[in-house]
Amino acid sequence: MKIWHLIFNLCILSLFLQCSEMKVPVKTNSMNTETSKNNPYYSRTDKTKLNVSNDEWKNILSPDLYAVAREAATERPFTGKYNETDELGEYYCAVCGNHLFRSSSKFASTCGWPSFFQSEKDAVKYKRDSTHGMERIEVVCGRCDSHLGHVFNDGPEPTGVRYCMNSVSLDFVPDSESQR
Ligand code: FE
Repeated sequence: MKIWHLIFNLCILSLFLQCSEMKVPVKTNSMNTETSKNNPYYSRTDKTKLNVSNDEWKNILSPDLYAVAREAATERPFTGKYNETDELGEYYCAVCGNHLFRSSSKFASTCGWPSFFQSEKDAVKYKRDSTHGMERIEVVCGRCDSHLGHVFNDGPEPTGVRYCMNSVSLDFVPDSESQR
């Protein structure tokens, strides 16, 4: 009788462990610091245009960053690590280190992705994007051509535009850190 009781308890325990495993959240935001350490092209000062194949980027970038930056995937809204950041600092391209935005051009948007009303001068390029049955303007990094997000005409003054960016494509350096 006791042995059946033990087997029953073991079954319950194993079921509980399986359920717990299923609830472990999938980590979607690995990163940027690790990536830049193993990335020979990452530089916050070198402005030289990059021409690196996707095969090579795939070996350098984390899977999340590769999917967004090189395959134009979109991170889920309200999940990005910079969505609600309002700290003072600079935003760089997570792939190549190109300076993209200053925190003073970031604004609180309800769209679920970090939003800016202005990019740094000559930092980004624009491409027509007709995918997913929509007409949009894609924003790519001016140095490495990586996908950053899209730009829309519903932003605040003074520009009236909204750069809707993927957090995973950005690398934020707070002023407190850069002044050390
Ligand atoms: Fe870049």
